[in-house]
Amino acid sequence: MSLTDYIKKRDFEQTTEPKTGKGSGKTLSFVVQRHHATSLHYDFRLELGGTLKSWAVPKGPSMNPGDKRLAMMVEDHPIDYQHFEGIIPNGNYGAGVVLIWDHGTYESLAESRADDVKTLRTGLKSGNLKFKLNGEKLKGEFALVKLHNAENNAWLLIKHNDEFALKSKYSSEDLVPADIKKMKNNKNGEATSLPDIKDKEIKKKSPTPKSTKSV
Ligand code: MN
Repeated sequence: MSLTDYIKKRDFEQTTEPKTGKGSGKTLSFVVQRHHATSLHYDFRLELGGTLKSWAVPKGPSMNPGDKRLAMMVEDHPIDYQHFEGIIPNGNYGAGVVLIWDHGTYESLAESRADDVKTLRTGLKSGNLKFKLNGEKLKGEFALVKLHNAENNAWLLIKHNDEFALKSKYSSEDLVPADIKKMKNNKNGEATSLPDIKDKEIKKKSPTPKSTKSV
């Protein structure tokens, strides 16, 4: 639970990324950021133990339980990173465009909220982390499962089959405003700010599941 790696990789004279932050102490937050760096990916972050545990998800999260999305665990990020969007200047670590794709609270699958932190820590340690997201786009139960036979930091992000699950093809890119997609990864350094995006575009929700019948 240290930000040493995070701080070491960045020059705060150049990047506007945050250095610190403190949780609310009441609920736990999650954020998913679309990060168009050298390659496009999504960063999935869960507040736990005073930092954001972070995974880079090349294909982005999915609401379809049939998708197993590779999630590479990366260094812990400061809590304030959940609010960060903007442009990381060229020549810096992670240079490119960062946009908040989804944001909300999350909890463990324990019955009592008082047990959330303990339950989540145990799950993280055992490589089988289950949780419930309350976002605009991501809702319901998910699991992050560590791959033991692959590289050390490889996990899979999987949607559980619940009332929010979608059976249809799901692409996180379908929910990204067109003006953001046009920005590419800013490799020529021409962009200095994000385009003015209408709130309703950013808040675009996942499709609603068709009436679910229990099996
Ligand atoms: Mn990233």
